[in-house]
Amino acid sequence: MSVDMKLSAYFHYSRWSKHMHDFLEQIWLSDDAGEAGVCLIPCLRLTTTAMDNEVFWKDIVYGCRQLTQRQLDELNVGRANKYTQGMHFITYTSEPVKLLPYLMKRFQANGGKIVQQKVENLQEFIAKSNYDVIINCTGLGSRECVQDVGMFPVRGQVTRIKANWLYCALLDESDVGNYIIPNCESVVLGGTHQENDNNTQVCPNDKKFIINGCRKIVPGLEHAQHLFDWVGLRPGRDTLRLEAEKGGNKIVIHNYGHGGSGVTLAWGCAEDVLELLKNELQARHLNVPKSKL
Ligand SMILES: Cc1cc2nc3c(=O)[nH]c(=O)nc-3n(C[C@H](O)[C@H](O)[C@H](O)COP(=O)(O)OP(=O)(O)OC[C@H]3O[C@@H](n4cnc5c(N)ncnc54)[C@H](O)[C@@H]3O)c2cc1C
Repeated sequence: MSVDMKLSAYFHYSRWSKHMHDFLEQIWLSDDAGEAGVCLIPCLRLTTTAMDNEVFWKDIVYGCRQLTQRQLDELNVGRANKYTQGMHFITYTSEPVKLLPYLMKRFQANGGKIVQQKVENLQEFIAKSNYDVIINCTGLGSRECVQDVGMFPVRGQVTRIKANWLYCALLDESDVGNYIIPNCESVVLGGTHQENDNNTQVCPNDKKFIINGCRKIVPGLEHAQHLFDWVGLRPGRDTLRLEAEKGGNKIVIHNYGHGGSGVTLAWGCAEDVLELLKNELQARHLNVPKSKL
């Protein structure tokens, strides 16, 4: 990637993340926070090796600051992992198993309708269907339905436990780091990032890596109740694809390839999809309906 492309990607990722942050803030300040699974929690980002402190999101989250040597020394007392650098900040977490049904409810309350159907080939589907506007958000499915050879799976395995006494996210950014993120009723322990691995079965070795690694960060997890293990495939791509197709008599917008950041970027990308749609409608001299989002 050229320097210009990197700067442009940095700018867009930062903007999309900020929009999601503000969207979660809005939910958190409303009656819906519990239903939508949105929490505001303190987070510690630590490393025993080295990490980049100039992260684009440092001005998006609240109160981001470096840990001092004294704070690191205190944190390291009695720990197997000796951290050499750290950051502290406060931010929102959202649980997709709660956020997605909540958003679906909003969509349907605004008149949205759902039809479930597998699309084998998007071009054929567009040609045959009566839809005027098609937004392609098929994630890893774009490998087949739009034959995008740049798509690849990034396997992620996590463990869910019950530990209602844990109120702080701990993210170990060391070379093979683990993470611990409390949600409303359970805590997620992570995790793996295995590129080009399609295995959706729970792997016992990964489970060992996750549980043992997280216990090194918080020894008390040894006594926490194990709920379940879970595997998902992130939709990997060198850069995500967010663009309108040129030409054709129907409007087709692609929005996929968000890798390990699809939750973080979701609302910002959706707003850009809306802008692209408005531009396409205007270019065709069609009315731009008011968004109900
Ligand atoms: C273990 C793990 C941890 C993660 N942690 C985070 C995190 O902390 N923060 C973060 O931001 N992100 C995280 N992610 C990544 C995030 O989950 C993804 O980026 C996000 O789910 C991508 O959303 P999407 O809607 O683009 O794709 P998906 O969630 O994959 O949804 C695609 C949808 O399209 C449908 N589809 C696919 N092909 C077709 C077809 N041919 N016809 C019809 N429908 C089709 C699928 O059924 C699915 O419903 C994590 C992922 C994993 C696995």
